[in-house]
Amino acid sequence: MSELYDIAIVGGGPAGLTAGIYGARAGKRVLIFERESVGGQISRASLVENYPGIKEISGIDLSASLFEQADGLGCDFAFESVTAISGSVGNFTVTSDGGTYRAKTVILAVGAAAKKLGVEREEDLTGRGVSYCAVCDGAFFRGKTVAVVGGGNSALDDALYLAAMAEKVYLIHRRDAFRAETAMVDKIKAEPKIVVKTPRVVTALLGEEQLNGLALRDPVTGAEEAVEVDGLFVAIGHAPAAGAFASLVGLDDAGYIDAKEDCRTSVPGVFTAGDCRTKNVRQLTTACGDGAVAALAASESV
Ligand code: NAP
Repeated sequence: MSELYDIAIVGGGPAGLTAGIYGARAGKRVLIFERESVGGQISRASLVENYPGIKEISGIDLSASLFEQADGLGCDFAFESVTAISGSVGNFTVTSDGGTYRAKTVILAVGAAAKKLGVEREEDLTGRGVSYCAVCDGAFFRGKTVAVVGGGNSALDDALYLAAMAEKVYLIHRRDAFRAETAMVDKIKAEPKIVVKTPRVVTALLGEEQLNGLALRDPVTGAEEAVEVDGLFVAIGHAPAAGAFASLVGLDDAGYIDAKEDCRTSVPGVFTAGDCRTKNVRQLTTACGDGAVAALAASESV
């Protein structure tokens, strides 16, 4: 019979690793599952400058440091993908592609991934001009021309952020009306470096090894045009990675795990932390905050 862990954490991003650190420091036996590499989304950030107490650090170094901290405190790791969770508080069975494990409580910290545009060669050009994180990669485009796709607060936020460093920012949205708040739209209109292109859809990414332009189409008139850009920032929302657990816990309409600031799901003994949780602010620091809250709640219940 395998060891009965106090806490099984699904996801080794900042939320999951922080939960591991707090769980281990509470004297609990913790097992962390990670299907790719530790750090999650933040491991892909070129530079992190908004983690309190650390002026700047690369995402990969921060991820490695979080891992070393959790590992050093005695957390066990399984680099496996969790496929199913069953049971109830005190005795959950966690099934992965590598085995079957038992835990008294579970913390789901599976994160969210930026939505892709779905244009050909998008994956090949990611990191070669295509980015999903203006805050992470904007500094690479100082003095250059970039485009942002999307019409929500994130896209407009990104366009304003990038306008502070880029020479020119195209804001491309598929409709004339923005989903973002009016105040944000007003700021965009007042920023001379931002050129709004609506309604436009991106039909092709131009450039061989490196992105150097976009083919655009007006979905109303069908007119086509090409614009030269050094970078493309896709900001069309995020999709939670919680779908696999829909039969275990309640999800909100957008597919995020339904839990308030106490990180408790609809199932006793199952907690959630980080970007996969229903919340307004999805940041590194708020993910870590959730990790602490979820781990302390889980620790109290075993
Ligand atoms: P969002 O509000 O869902 O907006 C996504 C945008 O992307 C929409 O304009 C949508 O177009 C567009 N879009 C979606 N799929 C697309 C596709 N395949 N091709 C082209 N365009 C596509 O997402 P978000 O901007 O990431 O914001 C998420 C939440 O965080 C929102 O509640 C937002 O208010 C909040 N947020 C707040 C702030 C802030 O307060 N400063 C900053 C960032 C985010 P349509 O409009 O045509 O559907």
